[in-house]
Formats: sequence, C-alpha cells, structure tokens
Amino acid sequence: MIKAVRGMRDLFGPEMHAWHRAEDAFRVVSAAYGYEEIRTPVLEHTEVFARGIGQETDIVGKEMYTFEDRNGDSLTLRPEMTAPIVRTAIENNMVRHSPVTRLWYTCQLFRHERPQKGRYRQFHQYGAECLGSPHPEADVEVIALAKDVIDRIGVKSWTLEINSIGTAESRAAYRDALVEYFSRYEDRLSEDSRRRLRTNPLRILDSKDEQDRALIADAPRIASSLDAASTEHFAMVRSMLDNQGIAYTVNPLMVRGLDYYSHTVFEFTTDRLGSQNAIGGGGRYDPLFAMLGGGAVPAVGFSLGIERLMLLLEEEQGGWGEAPRVDVYLAPLSDAARVAMQSVAVACRAAGLTVVTDLLRRSVKSQFKEANRVNARTVVLIGDDELAAGTAQVKDLSCGTQVTVPVAEVVRAINETV
Ligand code: AMP
Repeated sequence: MIKAVRGMRDLFGPEMHAWHRAEDAFRVVSAAYGYEEIRTPVLEHTEVFARGIGQETDIVGKEMYTFEDRNGDSLTLRPEMTAPIVRTAIENNMVRHSPVTRLWYTCQLFRHERPQKGRYRQFHQYGAECLGSPHPEADVEVIALAKDVIDRIGVKSWTLEINSIGTAESRAAYRDALVEYFSRYEDRLSEDSRRRLRTNPLRILDSKDEQDRALIADAPRIASSLDAASTEHFAMVRSMLDNQGIAYTVNPLMVRGLDYYSHTVFEFTTDRLGSQNAIGGGGRYDPLFAMLGGGAVPAVGFSLGIERLMLLLEEEQGGWGEAPRVDVYLAPLSDAARVAMQSVAVACRAAGLTVVTDLLRRSVKSQFKEANRVNARTVVLIGDDELAAGTAQVKDLSCGTQVTVPVAEVVRAINETV
C-alpha cells in the first residue's frame, strides 16, 4: 500500500467539516476588517526566504524543502507566507497603489520538522498582513483581527503574550548584552545554545533546555536596550490593547527568532496542547521590504496554525461537531421512478436545497439507513404507485411525519418541514 508522505496528513470527513467552519470565520472576520484575500504560488525562489528569514534560523537552516528545478533554479516550497507576500507586494507595486494594503491568506506550508501531534511537514496557516503603516494602531489592528478570528472559531483556551524588540540598533545592543551575559556561563549552556551564542544569540531565549531556561531567567531584558521611540511605540500598543479590552501579558523574553522582526512581537499560546503550545504569532517587520529590495515600507502581520486551532477546538468541544445537514435524500423505488426522480433532483437543487440520491438501487430500508447516515432532514419517496398518481411522499426524519404531495410541490413540502 502506498501511504501519504510522512508528516503530511489527509483531511476528510468530520474534521473537514470543522475546517470549513473555520474557513468561513477567516472570510467573515477578515472582510469585517477590510482585508482582501491573496493567493500566491506554493513555490518561490529560495532567496525569498534566505534573505528575509535569516540563514541562522531553524526554518532556513534545516527545515526548507529546497530543490533545483529542471532549469537549475533553486526553488523552495514555502515554509511561511510573510516573505512571499512582501515579494508579490513589491513585484505588483501594491503599496504605491494603496498606501495601506490589507491582505489575508490561508494556505499550506512546508517545513521538514520532526512530525508529532500538532507538528507536521505540510501544515496550514491563516494569516493577515497590514502593509504601509508604521504606527502602533496597525499593530493593534492585526492583533485584534487575530483574536476575533480565534473567538469566532470558538477556541477559548488561549492567552496573548506581547513584547517589543525595538529597532535594529536596539536589537544589536541587546545582542551584545546577551553575548556578554551568556558567555559568562558558556560551559553550562546546551550545545545548541553555545552555537547560537555565535550565530544568533537572541535565539537562546527560545531554548526549551532546562538548564538553559535557568540561565535565561536571569538574562538581561530587551526593555533596557530599547530607544525612546521604540519604548513609546510599545507603550501605545499596550494602551490601545487595554482600550479595546484585549487581555495580554508582557513576556520580556519573547523575541521570535526571525531576522525580519522589529518593534512589536506577539504570540497566542495555549496550555492544552502539550509541547506544541503556540497557536500563532506575528509582529512588525519593518526591515523585510528593504531586505527583499522593496525600499522602506513598514508592515505588521501574524499567522495562526490551523491544525493547532482545530486540535484545540476538538479538545475543548470533545469532538468535531455536527456534519452539515443534507436537506433531502431522494429514494426512488423502481426503474421508472429513478428517471422521474432525476427531475425532482433538478428542481430541488435549483431551489438551493442540498440533495443526495441513491446510486446503488437499494431497498427502501437501506435507503432510509443511508438517509440517516448522511444526516438528511427529509426523504422523498417515489414508487410505481406515486408515479402513476403524479405524486411523491415527503417524510420529515426529525418527527417522522409523512405527507403525499403532487410532484410539482415537493420543494414546497420540503421547505415546510424546516
Ligand atoms: P511560525 O511561522 O513558526 O511563527 O508559526 C506560526 C504558527 O504556525 C505556529 O504558532 C503554529 O500554530 C503553526 N505551525 C508552525 N509550524 C508548524 C508545523 N510544523 N505544524 C503545524 N503547525 C505549525
């Protein structure tokens, strides 16, 4: 038997229905904030990610699906969406046409990580990017959008953590402070963190190693390296979140390891998914446009992991919820009735009803069983007697009432059972 590629899941059945409800939430809430959907290719030139995310990050350093295509170009299956969106915004001059450009997406992403529950090699995100504004109100707009989407999906057990990593200068000063601090304890650091001390010291703060965590607890905080403008920006973000009643905690040790971030960073986490506790996150990425050759365009955005949101929903609600209802199951009981029933199907679908018909020429009993299995609201029966009389029987499966109506009135009879 040929199986799916390791770490890549098939989506179907009740879980798919729950995804559809989540996808409805993405559309409705994004539209309420004036965000427009964008779809970009699954493949990008490798440099889109190599330039923006940073060579020293796990994503670029060891997780990308990169290959040479037949022309010898280095291509990569996208591991995240922010860099591709900035690439297309530059290529299509979006910010010149609309100084504030609001975009949302939902798509699959690829990272060669060690698969486990909540961590896959193909996974999906919903996210949004607000391009063109340097102001804290844009940061707060995307945080509020993310929160409203999570609320609308119905996920309850989350918390929001925020921090500021300031400008490139403040981060450089912080990097120096961290190098000085951690160098004093180098022999106690994990091997990974010792390497990061040279390549990307801020990443040490993300370490899960217990001994590292003990040292991190006393590490210098970035707040002491922020300049006045960054401090003011962060204060405005906090007061606007307070004003909107969005609860958060400041996590002074959260830096989100990618090279392109600046100022506000944030993360939605949960305590109900074990070690895969991040539901989503984002931040301001003012440097990214310039890194990809697009001049100085400030921007802020986030992404939410859809698999994690769905796992959380299943955990909180004890299942995937109801399958959508089928309005009518059509049960023809003879060869002649099967032909007549096709006209009933056409009329029902034209009236906007969802219709399932028997395709296996089953007995009445097994057709009723099937009608219940597909969660049908009503069953329409036509046998030779009904055919001769020009009628059909319409049965309401919720209460068992059955009426005989002229064939032309089947749609009305189904609608009356609602
Ligand atoms: P990141 O782009 O790494 O900040 O990821 C944003 C969100 O995507 C995370 O908070 C997770 O919810 C989700 N995510 C990241 N990597 C994976 C993965 N390998 N499998 C499933 N979800 C993921």
